Amino acid sequence: MKEGNNGNSNNSEKKKVEGAHRIVNVHKSQIGKSKNTDGKRNYRTANARATAKQESRMMNVPTPRKNPLRPRSREEDKPVYSPEHFPLLTGTMEVSESKAKGRKPKHSFQGSVKVIPLGGLDQIGMNITAIETEDTMIIVDCGLAFPTDDMLGIDLVIPDISYIKSKIHKMKGFVITHGHEDHIGALPYVLQQINVPIYATKLTLALIQRKLVENGLDKLVKMKTMKFGQTVNFGDLKVEFVKTNHSIQDAAALAITTPAGVIIHTGDFKVDYTPVFGDQIDLQRFAELGKNGVLAMLSDSTNSQKPGFTMSEKTVGRTFDLIFAEHQNSRIIVATFASNVDRVQQIIDTAAKYKRKVVVEGRSMVNVISVASELEYIHIPEGTLIDIENLKDYPDEQTVLITTGSQGESMAALSRMASGMHRKVSIGPNDVVVMSSHPIPGNERAVDRVVNELCKLHAKVIMQDTHVSGHACAEDLKLLYSLVKPKYAVPFHGEFHHRRSAATLAESVGVDKDKCLMLDNGDVLEFTANGEEVSYSIKEKVQAGGVYVDGLGIGDVGNIVLRDRQNLAQNGIIVVVLTLEKYSGHLMAGPDLISRGFVYVRESEDLMEEARVAVQDVVDDCLCTHVSDWGKIKTQIKDGLSDFLWKKIKRNPVILPVIMEV
Ligand SMILES: [Zn+2]
Ligand SMILES: [Zn+2]
Repeated sequence: MKEGNNGNSNNSEKKKVEGAHRIVNVHKSQIGKSKNTDGKRNYRTANARATAKQESRMMNVPTPRKNPLRPRSREEDKPVYSPEHFPLLTGTMEVSESKAKGRKPKHSFQGSVKVIPLGGLDQIGMNITAIETEDTMIIVDCGLAFPTDDMLGIDLVIPDISYIKSKIHKMKGFVITHGHEDHIGALPYVLQQINVPIYATKLTLALIQRKLVENGLDKLVKMKTMKFGQTVNFGDLKVEFVKTNHSIQDAAALAITTPAGVIIHTGDFKVDYTPVFGDQIDLQRFAELGKNGVLAMLSDSTNSQKPGFTMSEKTVGRTFDLIFAEHQNSRIIVATFASNVDRVQQIIDTAAKYKRKVVVEGRSMVNVISVASELEYIHIPEGTLIDIENLKDYPDEQTVLITTGSQGESMAALSRMASGMHRKVSIGPNDVVVMSSHPIPGNERAVDRVVNELCKLHAKVIMQDTHVSGHACAEDLKLLYSLVKPKYAVPFHGEFHHRRSAATLAESVGVDKDKCLMLDNGDVLEFTANGEEVSYSIKEKVQAGGVYVDGLGIGDVGNIVLRDRQNLAQNGIIVVVLTLEKYSGHLMAGPDLISRGFVYVRESEDLMEEARVAVQDVVDDCLCTHVSDWGKIKTQIKDGLSDFLWKKIKRNPVILPVIMEV
């Protein structure tokens, strides 16, 4: 996903959204309701407890905490799993401080490594990559994708993990770069089949842990919090976590030492010299790694076509200040990505400066902010946050709402406000709505619809200058390629044209043209080192792609079901019902035609009657010629009716004959 992605898909079908909720077992009734006696949200109360636990737990096996704000699954709905269901396949690995720091270059690698992207190329979402050696395999990221418009009724798409399962004896762990859905979203599904430990930084792991609690898997999965600069050893693979910046905190790049050399997986990154929270990207470490020699860099390509540098998240804070200064008499509503904690921090800071109370609204927003608050990744000044129930107690000009729905997601809070369906908030002329994001490609129309609705309610909508990207633009990519100086550039994370541009950038800063490699999902890229000599091959291809999740069904909806759904959606259906006598084969009743999504029957009575007559003729023919095989009768009805309708109105509905016997 390009930016934060904790929202739902922008599909407007209610069923879809409900289905997605059913899958993750999140209960809206339990969200955002808890408060202290004075009505303030309880974001900070669990801080001390959470931190203490976090520090003391080496193994970080999650225990659900008693924070009332935390949306929990209802006990009765939560699946109960035991270790027999998903046995832990391997223990946790040894972790050490990076010894490689400042070391002399090491030139003699001997052996080979395979890099296998199982998703994430040619799509936005579903990032997952296998790194495999003779006897070890690890998986970098395990994300989901939201369905495209032609995936009717599909809630989510998760990666096909057949290949990993075929090498399960080698599987040692998941290493996760950051906490966006397109990097962690498929873990609850995949862990049910491959239960190995997860290694990630603090916030990333907390977001994963919340997912596992919702799915009843938290007690069965081992997780290990990694600090930047720490290395975990998996047999002949070593993985070091290196600090980067992104639109969510705690994003990491991975420096993976393999028998064939060091491979750097950048994850999603930007270069932010003045981040809102925490440190800058560890450019020094990237340079050190580069000096020691890097075999390949698998790099974010999302913004490779945008020239220049990506702006600092801090610049957005200044814009908020201007907007707040200019609109001192209005209520301000800011829509942004739920996962962009730094953005929320800046809105809260500005609100506090202008003495406004803040309401956080939207399930995913409350989720992420409460996790970030427990871990002290966000600082909320005392008394700033109020519950939505108390909004009415303050005049408009003293309040700010921070909400989900900046991508026009139909069930998100902003869409509900815009369409007058929100329980607590109605939009009016005294509202200034700030859209603090750019539409992700494909969401433009949904965003337009919400903005139109807001404008019709006479709200002022501000679209400009309150968003910066979380992905590196061209000059930032050039900087990282120049520091790392990889022998091979393998652009990741982006559609083909993004990745092609990233390859061109790598070439422009010195990577050989024939060492800029373009992969497809499922390609097996193998590097083999023999001392100074390194070669590569892309020979085999393994099974890769998406598995559809629909409601509670995983993988049961395949291409054939989807084709039927598309056909039904485009052409509608006609059911032909007739009753035959058991022994004589005489027609006792019908044929009757029932249609859905085909024509409006009341206005097309003549057509439907003619169609019925056409079917009657087919049936009569069959009965006269003593065709008694029902399969044949059904085929003839289908063919006859289909021909008739095509000649008559050039439509091709799904035809379903039903024969009953008396
Ligand atoms: Zn991503
Ligand atoms: Zn991301």
